[in-house]
Amino acid sequence: MKCRKCKRSAVIKMPRHNTAFCDVCFEDYLLKQVSIAISDDKMFSKDAPVLVAVSGGKDSLALWDVLIKLGYETVGLHLNLGIGAYSETSQQKVETFAASRNLSLITHAYQASYGLGIVEIAKASVRPACSACGTMKRHHFNRIALEKGFPVVATGHNLDDEAARLLGNLLKWQVPYLEKQSPVLSDDGGLWAKKVKPLYRLPEREIAAYCILNRIDYIVEECPMSNGAKMFTYKETLNRLEEASPGAKHQFYFGFLKQKEVLFPSPPPVEDADLCRTCGQPGQSTQCGYCRLIERSTAVTS
Ligand SMILES: [Zn+2]
Ligand SMILES: [Zn+2]
Repeated sequence: MKCRKCKRSAVIKMPRHNTAFCDVCFEDYLLKQVSIAISDDKMFSKDAPVLVAVSGGKDSLALWDVLIKLGYETVGLHLNLGIGAYSETSQQKVETFAASRNLSLITHAYQASYGLGIVEIAKASVRPACSACGTMKRHHFNRIALEKGFPVVATGHNLDDEAARLLGNLLKWQVPYLEKQSPVLSDDGGLWAKKVKPLYRLPEREIAAYCILNRIDYIVEECPMSNGAKMFTYKETLNRLEEASPGAKHQFYFGFLKQKEVLFPSPPPVEDADLCRTCGQPGQSTQCGYCRLIERSTAVTS
């Protein structure tokens, strides 16, 4: 198998583009996809540093690596969720990556702040672990970005994540979620840090290949708390479609982004946000979801 561009020997076959690339041409292609996402969706510029949320998994570490290669100023943010050995290994992968490239990294450990990990917090508040974890992450990404002066938080969500989420939203016809699903979430006039997903044009398989070719050491195990069964099923279903019809995943998600302009011609309205009386972040009431979660879990365990 030869690279379609330069005729050297190919390292990856890409059925969805009906092509194959050598390591050099593959990296060119992948960096270009991220560049296109950043510029087409006006995610950020080189004028201000970007806060990159890094879990220690392949997507977020690949994202950080690519942003540095593209010449962006970045700082990593790692949340240690306090899930025993899994969280220790995750943090260690992130720290090793940052140290090897001399990058700045902010870490925040739940255990240190609350004396509780996410498992205990979710349990005490009687919330499913992934839902409590989402609330916690949103709060801390936003808080740390605003406190430290980062206008943008970038996360490692890829094409598979976005397509699976779309499938889930469509199966239940969750129209408000569909309206909000986007590679860029606005800052709602400065209330929030802007959230962006620069890898949304790239499937998981290509990001894994990038990590292997660049010897990026990441945590392979999935989070032990993720009951992710549903997301996993959606991804598996989409993978089967992709196998039968290469490009299906891309068509499905990008078709949606295009249709969105017709279905929802104006941007979602800025909700009247109340500011939380405890933490000051915007929410649906005077106590935000995060503060309710923390109040309940600390009350139960103290
Ligand atoms: Zn080549
Ligand atoms: Zn709050």
